[in-house]
Amino acid sequence: MAGSGVPALRGDAEDLQALLQSIDGRGYKAYKAIAGAWRYPDFIIHIVHVQGDPYAAPTRVRVLLEPGVAVLPVGAFRGLARRLGTAALLARVFADHARATSTSKGTGKSGEIAMEHPGQKVMPQTAVMVDADGGVEARFTVGLPADGRRVKGRAAVELMNVDVPAVVRSTLFAAGHDVQDLERHASANEDASALRDALEPLGLVAFVAEGARLPRRSGIDDEPLPENEAVPFRAPDSLRVEIDLPNRGRVAGMGVGSGVTLIVGGGFHGKSTLLRGLEAGVYNHRPGDGRELVVTRNDAVKIRAEDGRSVSGVDISGFIDGLPFGRDTSAFSSPNASGSTSQAASIVEALEAGSRLLLVDEDTSATNFMIRDRRMQQLVPKAFEPITPFVDRVRDLHDHSGVSCVLVIGGSGDYLDVADRVVRMVDYAPEDVTDAAREVAARLPTGREPARSEPPVAPTTRVLARSTLDARLRNRARYVKVPDERTLLFGRDTIDLVAVEQLASRAQIRAIGQALAFVADLLREEGLGLPEALDVVASAITKQGLDALDDRLVGDLAAFRRFEFAATLNRLRSLRVE
Ligand code: ADP
Ligand code: MG
Repeated sequence: MAGSGVPALRGDAEDLQALLQSIDGRGYKAYKAIAGAWRYPDFIIHIVHVQGDPYAAPTRVRVLLEPGVAVLPVGAFRGLARRLGTAALLARVFADHARATSTSKGTGKSGEIAMEHPGQKVMPQTAVMVDADGGVEARFTVGLPADGRRVKGRAAVELMNVDVPAVVRSTLFAAGHDVQDLERHASANEDASALRDALEPLGLVAFVAEGARLPRRSGIDDEPLPENEAVPFRAPDSLRVEIDLPNRGRVAGMGVGSGVTLIVGGGFHGKSTLLRGLEAGVYNHRPGDGRELVVTRNDAVKIRAEDGRSVSGVDISGFIDGLPFGRDTSAFSSPNASGSTSQAASIVEALEAGSRLLLVDEDTSATNFMIRDRRMQQLVPKAFEPITPFVDRVRDLHDHSGVSCVLVIGGSGDYLDVADRVVRMVDYAPEDVTDAAREVAARLPTGREPARSEPPVAPTTRVLARSTLDARLRNRARYVKVPDERTLLFGRDTIDLVAVEQLASRAQIRAIGQALAFVADLLREEGLGLPEALDVVASAITKQGLDALDDRLVGDLAAFRRFEFAATLNRLRSLRVE
């Protein structure tokens, strides 16, 4: 069976029905008696936690289907990538169907059936899990029906023994799906993972398939722009590569090699949209998303300026040193970093977490961090300029540290000198203009002095101080809440995640919050290196799944990368490092 174990059965569906009828009209707390596992003809319903009143967080339920029961074709669960594709499909269909069919049965959330929606991205999550034998576990919530604060027994029977089984049978069983659709979801996810695995041996950091649809519906909507409005991606001949995939066979697209890649072009020609496609390419996407075959190395990190963020003990001296009044930058801390110091810190933090590909957009960068032209070098002598601009570092990053970079640059030709390749976007179509860029660079020298030639930025690692993380709030041992897409409440801290652009969902932020609490427990004893903390979390999840972080068997967690976990930790204002 998928996920964690099942407690001893308390009876069957009729027994639950009798129990619900017997508490009809009693105070809402009487519902507490139904907690536990119940056998239905074809599955088990495990009532994990019963809500305290009709307005409280709803009752948490698991449904467990033994191998064979859902009658999924073998292709739906052969291999991890296929299982994840299938699970994401089942979760999406369950969530949509539950929302569309559940009806109010009284006060508050009475009668509501709800599952965390997986969105466009495919990743391990706890709403639906398919195991290696074809067993299925689904986790969702139900609002136990109330009339005021009284139990509505008959409505509860209808909810638990009619509505829930109907949603389960029409969404988790193969019979509720088109077989081809099941195959499509499983194989598309397997192909995407295979495509990402193929990058490194080919010396690529990213791949964008011919025909991909990159633009999204809006800045707040991850769904694709409709087919008739989106210009499909087309690979320039010189950057065209072909890759064989296990299901789809050979696909062609633009391969982005390692090193320094510039995306140039006029305003509104699709530069940022391409970069955002690469940012999202660390995740797989559902069929129909448009980015199914857009993949990026899974250690790619989007870097941006974020003035006002807090920074704790980060060695940014490779980019910035000699601040006014001799302020030390080898362990730079600030509750209110500037644009340039925040961007430098984010780079160093990404390298510390193990990233080897940085994605940078001039739209969200600090200008003085990115460039410093000849005239400014003349006017403000080096002695009074603490910043070594990124243009003087990006080559070193690759040549000394093996860190590649893809940059959107529309405004500064100074970068032409340090690029391995230059892609120009024209009317949303990429062209390889590397040769032209070399010619321009040779013909029009910048006249700049490289700001410095000494040590390349060496990634530093920090040690988290003992007890620096505290998940407690008042009488709660763990307070982890995700009020919106971009905020994590952790203990007494509020962590602003607006600038952590590769976060995929609230479910992911919730899981990161639980991971912080997990690390907080470890830190009660002694300090821990930051990379080690990331490793401990990753290996606990590999061994036990996301339940390793939160043993309440919740259905609203999603897997996350070490980079987003580190980024969250690094934005904790109370963080102390040694
Ligand atoms: P730039 O960064 O070059 O200024 P953007 O990437 O922000 O441009 O794109 C400008 C607009 O064009 C956005 O509204 C975006 O959604 C849209 N867009 C980008 N690529 C495409 C495409 N391939 N097809 C249709 N619209 C696109
Ligand atoms: Mg832009």
